[in-house]
Amino acid sequence: MSGLLPVEEAQARLLALRGPLPPEKISFSEGFRRYILHDILAQRDQPAAPLSAMDGYAIRFDDLPGPWTIVGESAAGAAPGRTVNAGEAMRIFTGAIVPDGADTIIVQEDVAADGSTLTLTGDGPATRGSHIRPRASDFAAGDCLLPAGTRLTPGAIAAAAMSGAAQLVVGRRPRVAIVTTGDELVQAGRALTAGQIPDSNSPMLSALLAGEPAAVSLPHHVRDDRAILAKVLKDLARRHDVIVTVGGASVGDHDHVRGALQDAGGQIDFWKIAMRPGKPLIAGTIGDAVLLGLPGNPSSAFVTATLFLLPLVRHLAGARDPLPAIHQALLATALDGGGGRRDYLRARLENGRLTPLTGQDSGMTLPLATANALLIRDIAAPPRKAGALADYIVIA
Ligand code: AMP
Ligand code: MG
Repeated sequence: MSGLLPVEEAQARLLALRGPLPPEKISFSEGFRRYILHDILAQRDQPAAPLSAMDGYAIRFDDLPGPWTIVGESAAGAAPGRTVNAGEAMRIFTGAIVPDGADTIIVQEDVAADGSTLTLTGDGPATRGSHIRPRASDFAAGDCLLPAGTRLTPGAIAAAAMSGAAQLVVGRRPRVAIVTTGDELVQAGRALTAGQIPDSNSPMLSALLAGEPAAVSLPHHVRDDRAILAKVLKDLARRHDVIVTVGGASVGDHDHVRGALQDAGGQIDFWKIAMRPGKPLIAGTIGDAVLLGLPGNPSSAFVTATLFLLPLVRHLAGARDPLPAIHQALLATALDGGGGRRDYLRARLENGRLTPLTGQDSGMTLPLATANALLIRDIAAPPRKAGALADYIVIA
């Protein structure tokens, strides 16, 4: 099919429309799922001194099997205050600095203390250095702990906090407006008259964006009226980085997104992608905002949001790798060959095997509730037997 843009090309063009948003300084506890804008370099050694990994006694390995004279104690948070000399042991606790002179920790279960005399009762440490965490064994000052563009997981936040940095420098969250279009739509939960349907796409999009660094406004709904839509788009563009419309993206008499975008002074960058579902996707700009026009069918809206809206939001928020990761698994059933557009089949991945769901009509919503993967079938892909490999994207 000529004239349809390949998915990768469309994604690249969309992300090229606007660069990442300016930096913002936030506290470590606000960092979850944000993207750091600069490499996080360690400003300190971790640990900054050799630490005990156990509760016990710090000794010299050469003094084994003892006995020892107990000389003071080293607890977490303070300097040991004294060197350990030949024949001496210092009481020590987990996380405390190992005193100079000592090179090994005996766990307290292996010794008995009687006044200031310590004797070996168990096996004792097998090697010099036992139960000591050497200085910089986690990381050393100057190490790159997290490269720019990393998405902050709870674990990455732990590393950033330990680095010695004062705070996090992340990309600002894009402000996203969701605009539904269609005379037939009613806010979900409201009474319906003949011909009306609940709006399922805006709560679906809000849910998708809830896992992303985005500031999402309350959804707007516009009737199938080009002039009103143009006015709404123009107004929203002043206060948002991304406007995502749903519906009205195709060629019907009531599909007004492209016309309204132009009336509002915006530009279309591309329209129509070689994918199924989701062919009529629109991308463009209006003022400083990026407009993404998703098709209205529930499965089309979901698939195009996964492949385009989420990467756009991540890119604007500073992501280095904004596109969804593509994995491979074995097919649980045979799969027909591909056609003229790339398919993103709603599928279920279970025990490492992929099964496309029955009901691939883009108008269906129920398969979205059970799918946990999008099975990717390329243009003109040959038919495959059960057990063959297939690409997929995780969606739940
Ligand atoms: P459209 O892209 O406007 O031609 O819409 C395609 C199909 O998707 C139509 O059947 C619409 O009723 C349906 N649709 C459009 N927007 C929504 C929405 N927000 N929620 C659920 N269905 C929708
Ligand atoms: Mg419509």
